[in-house]
Amino acid sequence: MFVGHYAVGLAAKKFAPRTSLGLLIAAPILLDLLWPIFLLIGWEQVSIQPNPNPFLRLSFDSYPISHGLVAAIGWATLFASIYFGIARYLAGAIAVWVGVVSHWVLDYVVHRPDLPLYASTGRLYTAGNRLFGLSLWNHRWITIAVEVLMLAAGVVIYLWTTKAKDQIGNIAFYAFIFVLVGLYAFVVFGPPPKSVKQLAIGSLCTWLFAVWAWFFDSHRESLPHG
Ligand SMILES: [Zn+2]
Repeated sequence: MFVGHYAVGLAAKKFAPRTSLGLLIAAPILLDLLWPIFLLIGWEQVSIQPNPNPFLRLSFDSYPISHGLVAAIGWATLFASIYFGIARYLAGAIAVWVGVVSHWVLDYVVHRPDLPLYASTGRLYTAGNRLFGLSLWNHRWITIAVEVLMLAAGVVIYLWTTKAKDQIGNIAFYAFIFVLVGLYAFVVFGPPPKSVKQLAIGSLCTWLFAVWAWFFDSHRESLPHG
């Protein structure tokens, strides 16, 4: 799942209006921000396989540190604790925790059964270590429809919760959504990544979306009804 994770961050603004959208988006995409780091240092493995369905081009051979359920809960607890320690804002800490864990749940809906619960010893999974995934990705257009609807709902909730303090607060927000949708279209309709390294570096660059979200969110303010 891609833009659906961003939708979770946008919607979380209603629950935790005092938390920057940069953090609220970093939380649901955190596992995909850690994943390219673990790919580059060789702790996790992915391979690229030709497939007419672009959602099925990646074979997630092993990624228990970024995408195991137990690890996801650990990352969520770590991230939320650090946030709570600094900000002392419980709603924000809850939004961060739920956001990080939501990544696993949403990936579970779309991925083929490749999501582990926890890291097994060695690289091969034993029979007892089941892998999970409901394979919505097999249905390309349903996946796209679900993700686009989620993003639209996230945008509506965010706009309902905040208003721009100046022109930057509007322009930078709409530009963010435009680029995000454009990138999603590229991932879905564009060529496959040429190498795992290119894939990892491209994924790493999505950190910039969290920074961008922090930027335009600082040019917006929460509405009292939000
Ligand atoms: Zn993921």
